[in-house]
Amino acid sequence: MALMWIANAWVGSADGRAFEVKNPATEDLLDTVPRSGADDVDRAVAAAKAAFPEWRRTPGIEKAEKLHEAARRIRQDREGLAILLTKEGGKPLPENRDEVEWIAACLDYYAEIGRDVVGRVISPVARNQFNFVVKEPYGVAGLIVPWNYPLLLLSWKLAPAIAAGNTVVAKPSENTPLSTLRLMRAFEGFPAGVVNVVTGYGPEAGAALVAHRDVELVAFTGSQATGRRVAVTCAEQLKKCHLELGGNDPLIVDEGVDLDVAARGAAWACFLNMGQVCTSAERIYVVGKAYEEFVDRFVAFTKTLRIGDPLGPDVDLGPMISAPQRDKVEQKIAASLQAGARLAVGGGRPKGFDKGYFYEPTALLDVTPDMPLLREETFGPVAPIVRCRDIDEAIALADRSEYGLGASIYTNSLEHAMKAMEQVHAGTFWINDPLTDNDAGPFGGMRRSGIGRELGSEGIEDFRDSKHVHMDYVIERKPYWYPYRYDRPGE
Ligand code: NAD
Repeated sequence: MALMWIANAWVGSADGRAFEVKNPATEDLLDTVPRSGADDVDRAVAAAKAAFPEWRRTPGIEKAEKLHEAARRIRQDREGLAILLTKEGGKPLPENRDEVEWIAACLDYYAEIGRDVVGRVISPVARNQFNFVVKEPYGVAGLIVPWNYPLLLLSWKLAPAIAAGNTVVAKPSENTPLSTLRLMRAFEGFPAGVVNVVTGYGPEAGAALVAHRDVELVAFTGSQATGRRVAVTCAEQLKKCHLELGGNDPLIVDEGVDLDVAARGAAWACFLNMGQVCTSAERIYVVGKAYEEFVDRFVAFTKTLRIGDPLGPDVDLGPMISAPQRDKVEQKIAASLQAGARLAVGGGRPKGFDKGYFYEPTALLDVTPDMPLLREETFGPVAPIVRCRDIDEAIALADRSEYGLGASIYTNSLEHAMKAMEQVHAGTFWINDPLTDNDAGPFGGMRRSGIGRELGSEGIEDFRDSKHVHMDYVIERKPYWYPYRYDRPGE
């Protein structure tokens, strides 16, 4: 059985309960993992709380060295982590090798900018006064992440949180706890309690972590439904809550672009990790004359994508994460077809797979705005392609959403790019290169896609609170303010 990481020790759950983790490509058992309850969460939060006073005072250079050391260890274990990520998450191995490199890079990034704590001096406010703003960590941060990029999304929270001087308790998804536990080997050099991991189910371990009175800040990535629950608990306790939620991202293809590049880019944005990316393109709007040729090229390219064992060579797409997730996609496609949509490619389970949650990358045409496919997050390998009269209609449709995570456009027109950028609500807007992130650029959602930003300097500021310090450096009477303070007779 894999064990949890609390106060720099490998431990089981207090009551010995455990749950199974399975490989989504083979449905084989991979390992069992402790099923935490409130007691285990309590133990982890207590460890983090005990570590906080010393960690917050640790000089920036020492914190940075520890983060760089963790990044070095992660790179040394790159292949082991990537294989485990592939086994429990189903992404093809080369993508997981990239994910491991990106988390090491994220740790390195926050090791560097974490040393740069920017407060503010407000002076002079009045004679003999000096006011300033210092940045402080919150305390114990509860970090909750999903399964689609288990380590990357954790690193976007963990690295800035500890670089800012917080201590953390992380809870990975019940689908993908194994790689997170293995990741903890890289943090063995940290003082006990700075980084802790509890495993378990969302409504048990996750809910207990959010509700814990000693957790000062919750940073959550996951679905809108769970995010809402997390936000309610945080609101009840008036604690800070950072949310990275779902999306239903649009991608616009303008007339006049290289449609081979646009079709491949759009297919990649739709089907990467089987469409299980929060910023997957989930709605494609093609302008005017570009439509027919775009659809032909998109369909032709999609047919070349190779589905298979994600550990094997020459595989573009692995399985989906679970049977319920695949069922949801199948039901949504069936409902769209029933309502009049037309299948352009895919639409079924691929032949030759008795086991595993495989599904064909799928494109649908004749999709109408009222269909759930264009209104809700699908989180699967489905691309609805919509014909638009002109760029203005494409932009208006792209912005017709309650979400606002990401949006993309392929265009040669600076005017169209800038118009779309201004008018479409999106935390990230990609022009001619969808779905590309970098550590220095903030990431997060507008509208119902989230609250707060990760990555960049914004991503560390969200883990720092502001303290305004007012100082009189001469102790003196201030008769000009409240006379009764000093001048009342008899005092
Ligand atoms: P989910 O909401 O079901 O679970 C996310 C995490 O929350 C898991 O660790 C789960 O155990 C935990 N959880 C579940 N119930 C909980 C509760 N009551 N209290 C506390 N924690 C609880 O999401 P998922 O299916 O794991 O992931 C897919 C979703 O994540 C999609 O909606 C996707 O868009 C979103 N996502 C968003 C981003 C982003 O950065 N915006 C990135 C990746 C994924």
